Amino acid sequence: MNTAELHVDEELLLKMSGAGPRYTSYPTVPEWREFGDADARAALTRAAAKSDEPMCLYVHVPFCARMCLYCGCTVEITRRSGKVHSYLAAIEREVDMTRALLGPRRKIAQIHWGGGTPTHLAPAELRRLFEILRSRFEIEPQAEISIEVHPHVTTFEQIDTLVELGFNRISMGVQDLDPHVQEIIHRDQTTEETENLVAYCRKRGIGGVNVDLMYGLPEQTEATFAATLDTIARIRPDRLAVYAYAHVPWLKRHQTALERYALPTPPQRARLFFVAIEQLSKSGYEVIGLDHFALRSDALHRALEAGTLHRNFMGYTTHPAEEMLAFGMSSIADIGGAFVQNNHDTREYEAAIGAGRFSAIKGLVRSAEDDLRRAAIQALMCGMKLDLRALEARFGRRDLAQHFARELQELRPLADEGFCSIERDVVTVLPKGRLFLRHLAMVFDEYLRQKKADGPRFSKTI
Ligand code: SF4
Repeated sequence: MNTAELHVDEELLLKMSGAGPRYTSYPTVPEWREFGDADARAALTRAAAKSDEPMCLYVHVPFCARMCLYCGCTVEITRRSGKVHSYLAAIEREVDMTRALLGPRRKIAQIHWGGGTPTHLAPAELRRLFEILRSRFEIEPQAEISIEVHPHVTTFEQIDTLVELGFNRISMGVQDLDPHVQEIIHRDQTTEETENLVAYCRKRGIGGVNVDLMYGLPEQTEATFAATLDTIARIRPDRLAVYAYAHVPWLKRHQTALERYALPTPPQRARLFFVAIEQLSKSGYEVIGLDHFALRSDALHRALEAGTLHRNFMGYTTHPAEEMLAFGMSSIADIGGAFVQNNHDTREYEAAIGAGRFSAIKGLVRSAEDDLRRAAIQALMCGMKLDLRALEARFGRRDLAQHFARELQELRPLADEGFCSIERDVVTVLPKGRLFLRHLAMVFDEYLRQKKADGPRFSKTI
């Protein structure tokens, strides 16, 4: 499928480039309220009842050696090894506190370590963190175990350790290979480092290798980004995430430093994304969901075809475990019908855990209406189809065509653009619509509808 078959052009991308949420959760984070230890305990206690259901498990490792100026993650810049030691001790205690409330529930279908840079940890520390989890949970034999790595700091010895521990998916941050762009964004990473690491992961039997790219960075041009895409297509990861740079200096102050340079204008951003779609399509990658591309041979692509693709805070995944435990500063759990986010400050997180309290600061207990709308959004973003009859069966309702009458009406202009078809009670996302899933999802976002013009700011959709 190429851009001609998709019938997308730069004008359309530009027209659709308004702000909007990414829907890694629904309701989205701006709707959450203050949470605390008691809320986290209540959520885990509710979750204990589903004793046989497997869960996903996320660990946030915030440490990085140097700040990349585009970074939107929650990180702590450090080279001190003592920091890692005390952080792992806090994780261990948090896992124990969690296990105590979960009772017999201990099956894990998916693990993801994100950051920060999880490979900031030395091999012995990687082993220690994994052992904290392995000794307290029952990791299913087919579990997907993944980690985010920075090619510049990741050694073959670390990869060997990860393979020995059972990691079977790796995601690499690359963003852009152009030396001038890298210098501006403070990212040192040669093409050889990325190429060698992908090759070594393959050699060690790791499948589903992912590379993250970013468009909309300062001084990025169509020519430089096309060169990056060419090189990456040659290196041939199984999957790619191509994200728009989110310039949010009011949240991430370090990004202000990038304002000295020429940031691509909205039309230039649209053109950069167009270049990405065009080149990746020609190289055999297909759009599988929001910002994500995969080779047909990749498990994510197969999951899309089989209707088993799933989306959670880790992004798209093949494992449909509904709930997620999360450990570490800033991490977000989706457990017991609630989202629960930990404190963003490492010291405050460690202090709370040291005192025997969960460090939850923010969250939301979902209502039945939230769950219904969340399921509708997930169906569109993962299954590429919203079948209201199937949703009725799942939620024990018989009135969803009526309940969502306004939404079905609001989808009409998007159907006219060729993003979806609407037949009776089924909305099907068409190939072109895979690029505009946020727009389809926004129609079902009740909070967005109620929001006034001065509501929270989101990053651009394109
Ligand atoms: S390595 Fe990743 S997490 Fe760390 S500062 Fe750079 S972009 Fe942020």
